[in-house]
Amino acid sequence: IDSRLPDVGTTIFTVMSRLAQQCGAINLSQGFPDFQPDPALAAAVGEAIAAGANQYPPMAGVPALREAIATKLQLEYGAAYDAESEITVTAGATQALFTAIAALVSPGDEVIVFEPAYDSYGPAVRLQGGVVRPVALLAPEWRPDWAAFRAALTPRTRLVIVNTPHNPTGSAWPREDMETLAALLDGSRVCVLADEVYEHMVFDGRRHESVARHPALAQRAIGVSSFGKTYHVTGWKVGYVFAPAALMAEFRKVHQFNVFTVNSPAQAAFASVAGRAETWRELAAFYQAKRDRLRSGLAASRLRLLPCAATYFQLVDYRAISDLPDVAFAEWLTREAGVAAIPISVFSHDRADRGIVRLCFAKQDATLDAAVARLVCL
Ligand code: PMP
Ligand code: GLN
Repeated sequence: IDSRLPDVGTTIFTVMSRLAQQCGAINLSQGFPDFQPDPALAAAVGEAIAAGANQYPPMAGVPALREAIATKLQLEYGAAYDAESEITVTAGATQALFTAIAALVSPGDEVIVFEPAYDSYGPAVRLQGGVVRPVALLAPEWRPDWAAFRAALTPRTRLVIVNTPHNPTGSAWPREDMETLAALLDGSRVCVLADEVYEHMVFDGRRHESVARHPALAQRAIGVSSFGKTYHVTGWKVGYVFAPAALMAEFRKVHQFNVFTVNSPAQAAFASVAGRAETWRELAAFYQAKRDRLRSGLAASRLRLLPCAATYFQLVDYRAISDLPDVAFAEWLTREAGVAAIPISVFSHDRADRGIVRLCFAKQDATLDAAVARLVCL
């Protein structure tokens, strides 16, 4: 077979979750909660089915849900997005990202991706014939290397993909970096694809810098979020995009032919909650407590904790325990210590090994405590 992606294997999330299951390990690898969502949200899906929400909803999404999303963007970021022409409901963030890239990238176009980078960006760009231009995020704060960004920006640059809060590092861009990006793109035709799926998980009083807050970026940006993260239902696969009408029109040209529309009972259920600020505003404290529980437990271990400002991921440097490369260490940790983690070298084009793995703390306290009990023995 003539593969379009000859160097691409199975995503690390599938590989590590499968291994965790085979070994009976505690799975802190793939990012998903091991607890139930709000029962009222689950009940709302059943009620929507009973009420007949079982056929194709409108292509761009259920109107009441788009209205709720517009309300949220206004309340949270002070941004006015028109529910009719500037918001589209997607089958999770993964489809949103893929569709946005397909809508914007032509063969030969260059796309700047900050590394480490979520693993779907590169293949999606390459499938459109685009060329990935990696730019480093610099440890320990994982802020962009702006000198390298300037060097990567060329007349062929079509798109910059920004992910803040950031998977896998748990960092979040400060306002200054958003302003630098806006200044560097001023006067260009470059678009921004802003992956903000962890928008509500920012800790220690930080503020999430959505593109929606920054008019100079918002006018050229497609923003992406995921209800899977915000409502603890990653398997429901519902998310959304927001963008100025002209950009959204391009997005919808592709969206209508790759999914057309999204699960209607789930959309109806989210419509009943998505405009309610308390729910998403509780999320930061909820996950900050889990972060702190994991960190204080691991303080007694030989793992070195990196800073964690946001998301539900904690990076740990394991070099006091092992000199294995991170992929081998993650496998060893799963098999021998019974805790599955994600090696982070897979998120960079050169697979640079830093002796760091990622632990997901979107878990019940008992799960975190059990994992800590195993990790402090190493
Ligand atoms: N982007 C990032 C940075 C993510 O971490 C994830 C989920 N792991 C996604 C996109 C995909 O989100 P969804 O599950 O809604 O497709
Ligand atoms: N986003 C999740 C993570 O980073 C996993 C998503 C997936 O499995 N594709 O772990």
